[in-house]
Order: sequence, then C-alpha cells, then structure tokens
Amino acid sequence: MSYDEVRQTLLQKVLLAGVIVLPLLAIALAVPFAWGGWLGWLDLLLAFLCYLLTTHGITVGFHRHFTHGAFRATRTVRLTLAILGSMAIQGPVIQWVADHRRHHQHSDAQDDPHSPWRYGTGPVALMRGLWWAHLGWLFDTAQSPPARYAPDLLADRDLVRVSRAFPGLVVASLLGPALIGGLLTWSWQGAVTAFFWASLIRIAVVHHMTWSINSICHVWGERPFRTRDHSGNVRWLAVISAGESWHNLHHCDPTLARHGVLPGQVDSSARVIAWLEARGLAWDVRWPDPERLRRRLVEPSLLPLTAPPGVVAPAGCMSPESRVTTDGPPIPGQRALLSAGSPGN
Ligand SMILES: [Zn+2]
Ligand SMILES: [Zn+2]
Repeated sequence: MSYDEVRQTLLQKVLLAGVIVLPLLAIALAVPFAWGGWLGWLDLLLAFLCYLLTTHGITVGFHRHFTHGAFRATRTVRLTLAILGSMAIQGPVIQWVADHRRHHQHSDAQDDPHSPWRYGTGPVALMRGLWWAHLGWLFDTAQSPPARYAPDLLADRDLVRVSRAFPGLVVASLLGPALIGGLLTWSWQGAVTAFFWASLIRIAVVHHMTWSINSICHVWGERPFRTRDHSGNVRWLAVISAGESWHNLHHCDPTLARHGVLPGQVDSSARVIAWLEARGLAWDVRWPDPERLRRRLVEPSLLPLTAPPGVVAPAGCMSPESRVTTDGPPIPGQRALLSAGSPGN
C-alpha cells in the first residue's frame, strides 16, 4: 500500500452504493411491511441486539479504542470490537480509522474528508456540504492513506486480518440474523422478516446515525467547550448514537473515553468501557479530569462537571498531550452557543 495514494475502484463504489441504497429502500418499505404483519417480537429483539452490538463495535471499538486510544484492552476484546464494528458495514477497520484521524487533524479545514463547510457558508453551499459530509465523501476516489494515518494498525496482524475479512463479515452481518430468525421460528418467513428488520433496517439506522455525527454535529448543537472547528453537542442524537453526539467535547479532548461529561449527558459507550474496565478487560482508561475540562469550558463558572459512571478520575490520569489533536486553522465566526442552564439537564 503506497503512502499517498489509495484509490477507490468503480467496483467498490458500486458495492458501496448497494449497501447504502438497499437499507434505505427497506426504510421506505418498513411501514407497509409492519402493517402487513411482517414484524414480530423476535424481529424487534434481534434488530435491537444487532444494533447494540454493531453500534458499540463502532463507537467503543473503531472510534474510541482504535482511532483515539482512549483505553487499552485484551486481544480478545480488540478482536471482538474490530469484528463487531466491521459488521456495521462502514468499511474495514483500518480505513475507517485512517479517515477519522484525518478528520480530526484537519477538522472543518481543507483536508477534512467530510466537512459540511467544504463548499462555503451560504445556505446553498451548506446544503451541498451537508450532503457531502453525510454521504457524498464515501464515494471520493482518493481515500485517506492508512500508511500515513494508521501505521500502528497496519503493524497489527490481527487488525490487518480483520480488515481483509471485511467482505466476509459484511455477508455474515447481512445473513446472520436471517439464519437465527429462520432457525428459531423454523420458517422461511422468520428468516425473511429477520433479514428485513435485523439486517436491512438495522444497518440503515446504524449508517445514518454515524454519518449524522459527521454532518449534523458539525453544523448544529451547543458548544460549551472551546474547539477550533464547528463541532457541536446534539442532544436528540445522544441515545441512538451511544453518546457520540456529544461531539463538541470530543473535538475539545479527543482521547477521552467518555464524551458525555456534563450532568445528564447519556453515553452508553462510556458505560461499556467502564464495564470492561471493572472486569479487567480494559485498562489505562482516559477518564475525564473535571478540572482539566473546566478550564476548557467557554463559561467555566456555569457548569459543574461529573465523573464517569462508577469512576472517580484520579489526578493525573490523562496525559497532557492528545494523540490526535484538532490542529486545523482557527475558523472565523466560531461562537459559543451556550445558553445558561441548557446543557447539563
Ligand atoms: Zn467531528
Ligand atoms: Zn473522533
């Protein structure tokens, strides 16, 4: 793999279009499908479980662990997270990490792979930019080179193997729920409805939840913390995104294991990491240091900070440097959208 050049082929683009369009078609058919009686409790349970597993594979695994090194973990945990994240069908783990590290290094600047501000700040430019940040960038021929952005992962034989196994994991993610649904109900209808709800609908929701962080969370939201980009905290996405939509804090301090650091900010990914830590499966967890964060608040006097679940952050638990920093140029016009009392509810 060359250092600078990684190009997406036409075949890869066609396959990518397929795994995006098919789940979207399923969303369009969801109401008549359910109305026609093709939705049972088993389908809902399978869809929910598959959503939980693959979403946290992305948020805890691909994002907080592999991209940002927010904690260290056993080989079994790393492999499990890499496989579950791959089954969210957002690309092989090493490419995903390369794209996301490039995003942080150039956030909302020229080399950001998916900034919604790419075309300018006017209404039409912003609409184009939102489309680009949400979906369009995935079809960019020039890909972020892993040799530049993720050399540590390229040196990990386990992760190279999981990345190469991506096509097989896509098939498993699509057909696994159908197999389980068919076997548990011992019927073809059980297999079809499980495929529809736990594969297609689940993948559509996981896709658009993740891509909303790139699009919506870089345009709207509260900005209680100082950053050099347009990242915002978007409350209504917090539950479905497993805590990833507290994106303003994340860009302020990218290596933290917990993104929802203010009172009332739910962050199920942080709870998963705390659970792994309590069982000795994860360690060196970068929990927030309240005083360090308070210094980064736009209005330090307004907000109390909370410790992560079940964890009292020890002094000095975080290194002063970030492994990936928001070092893009200052963005004119950035302003704090903090309104008194709005965060922390
Ligand atoms: Zn971002
Ligand atoms: Zn990140």
